[in-house]
Amino acid sequence: MIKQEQIPVTITNSLSGEKELFKPVNEGHVGMYVCGPTVYSDVHLGNVRTFLTFDIISRYFRFLGYKVRYVRNITDVGHLENDADEGEDKIAKKARLEQLEPMEIVKNYTEGFHEVMRQFNILPPSIEPSATGHIVEQIEITKKLLANGLAYETNGSVYFDVLKYNEKHHYGILSGRVIEELMESGRKLDSQDEKRNKVDFALWKKASPYHIMRWPSPWGDGFPGWHIECTVMSTKYLGETFDIHGGGMDLKFPHHECEIAQAVGANGKAPVHYWIHSNMLTVNGQKMSKSLGNSFLPRELFAGNHPLLERGFGPMAVRFFMLQSHYSSTLDFSNDALSAAEKGYKKLINALIAIKKIDHPGNSVTDAERNEEFKRIPAELYQNMSDDFNTAKTLAVLFEMSARINDIKSNPALLKQIDSETFEFFKQHYISFIEDVLGLRMEEEHNSDLVNGVINVLIDLRKRARQDKNFALSDKIRDELKTLGVQIMDGKNGEMNFTIE
Ligand code: AMP
Ligand code: ZN
Repeated sequence: MIKQEQIPVTITNSLSGEKELFKPVNEGHVGMYVCGPTVYSDVHLGNVRTFLTFDIISRYFRFLGYKVRYVRNITDVGHLENDADEGEDKIAKKARLEQLEPMEIVKNYTEGFHEVMRQFNILPPSIEPSATGHIVEQIEITKKLLANGLAYETNGSVYFDVLKYNEKHHYGILSGRVIEELMESGRKLDSQDEKRNKVDFALWKKASPYHIMRWPSPWGDGFPGWHIECTVMSTKYLGETFDIHGGGMDLKFPHHECEIAQAVGANGKAPVHYWIHSNMLTVNGQKMSKSLGNSFLPRELFAGNHPLLERGFGPMAVRFFMLQSHYSSTLDFSNDALSAAEKGYKKLINALIAIKKIDHPGNSVTDAERNEEFKRIPAELYQNMSDDFNTAKTLAVLFEMSARINDIKSNPALLKQIDSETFEFFKQHYISFIEDVLGLRMEEEHNSDLVNGVINVLIDLRKRARQDKNFALSDKIRDELKTLGVQIMDGKNGEMNFTIE
């Protein structure tokens, strides 16, 4: 493998808008923080795209030999329904609607999130801190911002004073938003408002008497604002200045802009060297989002159980589909694109199976030109991945390699034109870039159309058993499938979905 120092990595930094050479804070180490999910509902395929982007980035740095500390949080308090600090806490609301404890909601959806990550072969982060686990630190930093004159208390809540901050610093440095324009847009503040200016944001919110998620603080019972948790958890585990902060493009403003202001206001220095924003998965050009009603869940995707889907697709074909575009471009979902991706994925995997079985015969009469070619092509994998993690171009190189593998498969004599060391270099790179860097693996057999089809037949039989009030049979089908790792979920209107563990 080629050494890390020989491969400079460039990153498009959202802060400058430029492609910049990556220079770590500590040589040989990468510290990366990524905003994790708000665990009040199932993650949809759009969320998966963002977490996949950062999985690839951490995998590639590790592959290059860096020691990576990857922190991805769980937001389990403080994310309100509305970005302007209005509305209910998303988790508290779900708990109220389902008559559960907020921590039951958190546990359920955190487990679901982990399961989806596992299905897509998205590796776990090094640390996965939760907002509720860091309330003390959030209170401490809020006190610091108050002491620094950058925050104020009103009626038991504490707000960040954006105009004060902007006197000495630049609010808008990341998103390019202009304070004057933000002050003019939308609803005007009225006498009921606690904020001095509409651009201010909550660091701590007072809990009303019926608010269930609450902690004591110097300002009375309350709960933290959304942005402060990420400032606390990133700097706690990665230091006051760290290498990379990531998230979906939609988090750039206000979330990440506020994170910078809080960290600069508290610690007097910019927290992050490279900001990376992953673009959106869209459906017919519109962002996939739960609130727009155009999102579907991974399990619906695998089973083909959604009006937008013509059939089911396995997680690896979907992973391949997402890798075919650069993370900074939007990616539009379509059945045709997924079918094409599935074919491409199979091609790469078939060549992977083939090359694992090919060994060099030893002695060879080398053909200098061909030998060079087998050295040159794997080097292009690094060039493309190091160029702002260009997975699309990396896949194109892997296709070129797969064509060479197929040539050798049909004509093993070709191997004699390459020396054994070069062939080993070529082989190891093909395997490592597919498996370790891009994280593609053999599609698990149970995601095949056949297995899905058989399960659907059993589900139909179970529905019929229920109609006939033969609950013993219906339970038997459910329980036996469960022992095989197939979980049937009964919907409110008699529909049945399934997931495979
Ligand atoms: P949330 O749980 O809503 O905070 O979202 C978790 C992550 O998914 C965030 O980084 C979002 O930016 C990202 N995200 C949400 N919707 C999409 C989408 N349609 N495409 C890509 N990423 C998304
Ligand atoms: Zn965050």
